Amino acid sequence: LSELGQPSYRARQVWEWVYRHGVRDFAAMTNLPKSLRESLAARATFTAVRPAEEARDDESAKWLLELERGGRVEAAKLASEEGYAACLSTQVGCAVGCVFCASGARGLERNLTAGEIVGQLFALGVADVKSIVFMGIGEPFHNYDALLTALRRLSDARGLALSPARMTVSTSGVVPALRRFGDERLRTHLAVSLNATDDQLRARLMPGAARYSLAEIIAACRAYVRASGRRVTFAYVLLAGLNDTDADAHRLVRLLRGLTCHVNLIPYNPVAQADFHTPSRARVRAFGAVLRQAGIETTVRFTKGRGIDAACGQLRLRAS
Ligand code: SAH
Ligand code: SF4
Repeated sequence: LSELGQPSYRARQVWEWVYRHGVRDFAAMTNLPKSLRESLAARATFTAVRPAEEARDDESAKWLLELERGGRVEAAKLASEEGYAACLSTQVGCAVGCVFCASGARGLERNLTAGEIVGQLFALGVADVKSIVFMGIGEPFHNYDALLTALRRLSDARGLALSPARMTVSTSGVVPALRRFGDERLRTHLAVSLNATDDQLRARLMPGAARYSLAEIIAACRAYVRASGRRVTFAYVLLAGLNDTDADAHRLVRLLRGLTCHVNLIPYNPVAQADFHTPSRARVRAFGAVLRQAGIETTVRFTKGRGIDAACGQLRLRAS
């Protein structure tokens, strides 16, 4: 709009049409002069993200999304107690390359723009979405600036006005970004995917995350808790025979001692290219019991939407 020589209140008007009224057509923005509507329509489109494929079961739905600028990502809606949680992607592919994850199987293609991150939500339908998790394809902290712009846009009071407290950013543990994020003074939740209790195994499971040691990651998490006054959620994917023993659980307790946190155990969800196994329910319970006995609040997330390949990255992998 400034390129078109328009005053700044025009931007506010367009913003409100798009983010408050959900209008996707310049012609319908009736408080703009007709000539302006026409020049906007000639320069800009609302088709950055288009649904290409959809899979549903009783409680969740997942989409393969085609990006106008090239590439595909996935996003999902997962049923929660109150409405849906939307799971959004932040990159096309992922450079971390976790061996149990379909999203990183072919490396990183590119970062999403803030518009593409937010655009996923519109492609899914925003009306029944009560919370947002950045747990789709990609490492959010490898695309920090676009992520922050998207967070601000989603929570803007003149638009969607989604509370930052209802958003969760999940990271593989990018230390400088963890420190920066704590200083942003957002109310957004932070989840850190640990997945191992020693650096050697972690480097094997999450090759692109090996740059930072567990000690550095935990120290950054402690700093985050101090700076933000918030707790951290630690995600831990349980892989049978690899990281799911009582000894692992005790090491996890030692790592997290004194940290204001919550642990989310995620039994491995089988993906096509990987040869890992899901631990038995009894093993998962025993692992959780060690953490709880040590006073660490622990939940188990039995994967939703197994039937629809809801572990992110699988639709994209299959479709190519
Ligand atoms: N890149 C970010 C966010 C996306 S991955 C991160 O790694 O945190 C979201 C979560 O899904 C992570 O906790 C990851 O460890 C987990 N995950 C990936 N593949 C999985 C699989 N096959 N089964 C279970 N959890 C998986
Ligand atoms: Fe990337 Fe997260 Fe998948 Fe690892 S688990 S490859 S960091 S998306």
